[in-house]
Amino acid sequence: MLQTVGGVEMALPAWKEHGKSVETENGYVDKQDARGNRAAVFWDMDPRPGPISSDEARVALGNAEEIGAQQIAGHPARIFRTMRGSAAVWRCDKTARILRVISQGSIDASDLAAHVRCHAVAATGNGEVPTAASTVLGAGWTFGNRSKGSISWMRDDAVLTYFAGSTLPGPRDADAARVAAPAWVAAAGLSDAVLTGAASTIGPQGHPAVLVHGAGTLQGRAVRWSLIFWRCLQRQKTFAAIVFSQTAPEDSALLSARCHG
Ligand SMILES: [Zn+2]
Ligand SMILES: [Zn+2]
Repeated sequence: MLQTVGGVEMALPAWKEHGKSVETENGYVDKQDARGNRAAVFWDMDPRPGPISSDEARVALGNAEEIGAQQIAGHPARIFRTMRGSAAVWRCDKTARILRVISQGSIDASDLAAHVRCHAVAATGNGEVPTAASTVLGAGWTFGNRSKGSISWMRDDAVLTYFAGSTLPGPRDADAARVAAPAWVAAAGLSDAVLTGAASTIGPQGHPAVLVHGAGTLQGRAVRWSLIFWRCLQRQKTFAAIVFSQTAPEDSALLSARCHG
């Protein structure tokens, strides 16, 4: 049955709908039948550039074994065997989203994924980007720009970018944050990311967080950056924010993000 939900076109079996969220930034359709077959498509804002990496796919799917690759709607996808079936995962650069197709039972995820059109509808917004608490952010910051999955603020040569929340799990410790950091540094428009440190900290609104420091370049000029990952328990979403400047960026600017309430 061909349907378009949250700007994603799909053809899932005519099984009972076990859940659906029509949001373009974090949505899903989950169908199951009485015999334990399941077919589901999930999508989340993901402004990281380039095809999905093996590490990113593994984080998105949890306990799974990579078994192949496939082009889906023009994107390189990774195919996994899961505990109870199979899964396909890829990034759509046209809508800045990560897509997951999960299957259990009679149909392979790769067959289901072959019918998914992730950018059938071009329009996606910024996603669920945190707002800025101006009292924490301090004076002098002005609105920079908004794009799919992010909003930026600027002060002098410093740029602060909040990324949209995602239902995917984020890095929980310094080691995981080091692995995840370069893709988010690239999402902020920086090249040549070099990490200088990572540590657990208290993030925006008191959430447990991991802070990563490093260097990179912006259009050939050297900059330093601070990147923070946190999980908002109230919204059940993972967030990331980065600030960079030519001198040492102020980590405190990262704490101005308001993810809930
Ligand atoms: Zn696409
Ligand atoms: Zn929160």
